Amino acid sequence: MPNRLRSLLALVLSAGCLSAQAAEPLPQLQGWQVPPAWLTPITPVQISDHVWQLGVAGITTLLFKTEAGAVLIDGGMPQAAPLILDHLKQLGVAPSEVKLLLHSHAHADHVGSTAALQRATGAVVVSNAESAVLMARGGYNDLHYGDSIVFPPVTATRLLQDREVVQLGSLRLQVWFTPGHTPGSMSWTWTDTRAGKTTRMALVDSLTLPGYRLLQSAIYPRIVEEFQRGLAAIREMPCDLLLTPHPDISGWQFDKPASPHPEPLSCAAYADRAEANMRKQLEAQRAAAAAERRP
Ligand SMILES: [Zn+2]
Repeated sequence: MPNRLRSLLALVLSAGCLSAQAAEPLPQLQGWQVPPAWLTPITPVQISDHVWQLGVAGITTLLFKTEAGAVLIDGGMPQAAPLILDHLKQLGVAPSEVKLLLHSHAHADHVGSTAALQRATGAVVVSNAESAVLMARGGYNDLHYGDSIVFPPVTATRLLQDREVVQLGSLRLQVWFTPGHTPGSMSWTWTDTRAGKTTRMALVDSLTLPGYRLLQSAIYPRIVEEFQRGLAAIREMPCDLLLTPHPDISGWQFDKPASPHPEPLSCAAYADRAEANMRKQLEAQRAAAAAERRP
């Protein structure tokens, strides 16, 4: 068999295998190793009357069902797209019913599958100016990660301003810009019913600044001020129930459906913890700079 035909056949067979064993871990991408939980499929978890967690254990992907169609926030790693579509089907949502694709921040572990999901659903990709440029170049030339965490590029066709509301049917999702982890980081708030109670819910973006230069950063000079502005917004948010793009940060365990949320965290406590970590990082950088200046 010619080589090209053989590799095509292998591809078809492996695609068949994947769909037949949906509970197997998703494959790692070459060159960027991630924690296994980011690739471990779960059974969808209902969070409130109209909201479900789809996809994998270690990355939040929220489905909102409304009478006018469905909305997704985040889609996880690039290889998660078929899993998300499978979970939508399980929950009775046809791809064409997904009207809007929203996101937290434009890193591969949260928007890696957005291009494939957009193609499959025809949904409008909603972003903001800072994130949209990064998504359009597929994560290349990331401020802090360079070209090391790239993903299939996707074009956002609706760009939001801070505190704008995205509406579908009776669902109102408000965006809060919470920059720092990325310049375009977005958090979301909405209201739903949960166990018979009206609940103000928040998906607050990642607040880590992993190894970032905070002191006199040439690539992101106002990072500390912007981060603090985001923390002030988080403390202001209506927030009875906190979710985060990496669920364990806010005490969620999506792979344990019997008890998916053993250790809830408040929005204020999340902001306080992030502020303490940022100050520690800043102090360490100040101390290092002072040590360098010493003769
Ligand atoms: Zn990230």
